[in-house]
Amino acid sequence: MICIVGAGLAGDSAAAALRAEGYGGRILLIGDEAEPPYDRPPLSKEALFDDVPEDRLFLRAESWYEEQGIELKLGDAVVAIDRDAHRLTLASGETLDYEKLLLATGTRARSLPGADSSGVPTFVVRTLADARGLRAQLAPGRRVAVIGAGVIGLEVAAVRSSAAARSTSSRWPIACSAASCRQRCRIIWPTFTAPTARGCICRSAASP
Ligand SMILES: Cc1cc2nc3c(=O)[nH]c(=O)nc-3n(C[C@H](O)[C@H](O)[C@H](O)COP(=O)(O)OP(=O)(O)OC[C@H]3O[C@@H](n4cnc5c(N)ncnc54)[C@H](O)[C@@H]3O)c2cc1C
Repeated sequence: MICIVGAGLAGDSAAAALRAEGYGGRILLIGDEAEPPYDRPPLSKEALFDDVPEDRLFLRAESWYEEQGIELKLGDAVVAIDRDAHRLTLASGETLDYEKLLLATGTRARSLPGADSSGVPTFVVRTLADARGLRAQLAPGRRVAVIGAGVIGLEVAAVRSSAAARSTSSRWPIACSAASCRQRCRIIWPTFTAPTARGCICRSAASP
């Protein structure tokens, strides 16, 4: 049996590739999140809108895994690997023996010290559960501070402003005319930008 730890895009793609290349043995895809493999890029974009169905985010229909003979074990984390014995231990206490092991555990968002105890609802945007929590807070009239002025922070600010509410990004408070930003906005969030000769105006910045 091949065990794949991490039911994200990489784990899912690896399982699909193994089958496509003719591997006929048992494949077990283990993920600590409750949901079947989904796409993360929409989490900072359309998944923050109330009217976008979540089932659009999933990479495949659940029946596909059954058809391909790919077993999903979700909502349980691998907490120990015994490489000599070829054995995994899960958070639930279950142990699993494997022949081959693939780690596709991705990465995690960095959180800020004190954020959890601040009393202000604070989110990272990494998982579907994070996006659900953030979406529930994006009611009109609420003020949102985005910490981290990279692509994901900019996207969240753009979604927020499209709901005609106030949003403060830590780096682009008014308008962005940098060539690099123009490039990014055009590629990633074209409907929220107005290209100009000097760059683009992010509507997140232009809204009140
Ligand atoms: C909000 C957001 C927006 C993004 N937008 C874009 C974009 O526009 N364009 C783009 O190219 N990329 C984008 N990305 C990046 C892209 O989503 C990642 O590159 C991609 O998700 C990486 O896939 P992965 O499978 O390697 O890792 P991950 O998606 O991190 O998946 C790893 C999985 O393994 C699980 N896991 C970890 N440890 C264990 C364990 N011990 N046991 C069981 N399971 C475990 C994790 O919980 C996770 O579910 C975005 C990412 C985020 C978060």
